[in-house]
Amino acid sequence: MSAKFIDNGEFMRLSKYFLPVSKEAPADAAIASHKLMLRTGMVRQNGAGIYTWLPMGLKVLTRIEQIVREEMNRAGAVEMLMPTLQQADLWRESGRYDDYGKEMLRITDRHDREMLYGPTNEELITDVFRAYVKSYKQLPLNLYHQQWKFRDEVRPRFGVMRGREFLMKDAYSFDLTEEDARVSYRKMFCAYLNAFDRMGLTAIPMRADTGPIGGDMSHEFIILADTGESAVFCDKALLDLPPPGLDLDFDSDLNAEVEKRTQYYAATEEMHDEAAFAAIPAESQVSARGIEVGHIFNFGTKYSLPMNAVVQTADGQMVPVQMGSYGIGVSRLVGGIIEACHDENGIVWPESVAPWHVGLINMRVGDEACDAACEDAYKALTDAGMDVLYDDTDERAGGKFARMELIGLPWQIVIGPRGVENGVVEVKNRKTGEKTEMPFAEAIRKVA
Ligand code: ATP
Ligand code: MG
Ligand code: MG
Ligand code: MG
Repeated sequence: MSAKFIDNGEFMRLSKYFLPVSKEAPADAAIASHKLMLRTGMVRQNGAGIYTWLPMGLKVLTRIEQIVREEMNRAGAVEMLMPTLQQADLWRESGRYDDYGKEMLRITDRHDREMLYGPTNEELITDVFRAYVKSYKQLPLNLYHQQWKFRDEVRPRFGVMRGREFLMKDAYSFDLTEEDARVSYRKMFCAYLNAFDRMGLTAIPMRADTGPIGGDMSHEFIILADTGESAVFCDKALLDLPPPGLDLDFDSDLNAEVEKRTQYYAATEEMHDEAAFAAIPAESQVSARGIEVGHIFNFGTKYSLPMNAVVQTADGQMVPVQMGSYGIGVSRLVGGIIEACHDENGIVWPESVAPWHVGLINMRVGDEACDAACEDAYKALTDAGMDVLYDDTDERAGGKFARMELIGLPWQIVIGPRGVENGVVEVKNRKTGEKTEMPFAEAIRKVA
């Protein structure tokens, strides 16, 4: 059965929808994306770093989730779903229960069992793996899910960008050998570039700290933004490199794809090497701020060894499985995309994640001819498979225009009495601002 969302365009009449737009953002919203998400009624804060996703916010979140899902699947990862609540004992096995510190929300159930709201899932997935996988023949394996996490951040801020409860995609790879693990790592590296590109973002893989494990097998994926929390340094060439592309053969050797990028300097503050950076031509030096939207990591046997996740090799030995983990900040991306895509009038959604493709504005609700033209247009657009938000509200034109600009749908089609008389509608592109009058039959082709 295919998972088609029951998101029937028929019901996207603004008069019946729930889009609580407001003129002002609360004073404590410090950055554009946070302000815009509150003003457009995408989220509502319920507590420090905890949000309700209102209908339009959820729509965008779901689109991002779907892009991530498609690109994970394309790279050969298999989707599942792990719980948010975990047993403390599992984390004692890996030794992380005490190490994780105050960021972990610890809970006790009625039987006084210690539990926690998962900040990440390495222990849990390792437990699943060891229960079922015993042989090298079942490898390689990459399992992922998209699930809410909780981290009791010291300073939750910037809205969903640094929440305490947030949605993460986390994938976990299992391989027999270190070389196989590198192959799995490269697949995720390429899948990430494609996924972020599809969202309209240029995410730069930057060398990241591998902590006590060492090695060069960790990259953070960073989008540049003045409001980013990390200072980042990279070669300008990385900003112009196209992604590997959706036709990439994930079973081929991806080393060249990865090296095409890792040959250039790119590091976050913690990994920054002044001398190496100084060695690249001055005009290529980019020193900026960035947002971490993804992080991939190979950690070998860090969990499989203490948790005894072993597999049998071809010659009968039992060896701990080689693992990696791969995170994407799905809910952070909603803010990240808005940071990258907005102007003074509001959000400017990339088509791929826009909550609706077209906003249809009825300029004179109650005018028979105008209403009929809008109903026809609404039906024709939805029949053509487009997601349409139909502004059928009884408000002044100025307010309608401003709201449509604010929520930033890629296209607007405006139908008013004068146009109906002349047989034309107005089509506006949100990004370029270009406005043109044309017959509806032409408009539908233009926005398709
Ligand atoms: P940060 O450096 O921003 O605290 P992290 O390095 O602790 O993030 P990871 O453990 O690498 O985060 O988690 C994978 C991804 O989850 C991150 O790359 C980020 O996009 C997202 N993420 C982490 N913490 C948060 C948070 N508090 N709110 C929203 N997204 C988050
Ligand atoms: Mg963190
Ligand atoms: Mg980080
Ligand atoms: Mg990280």
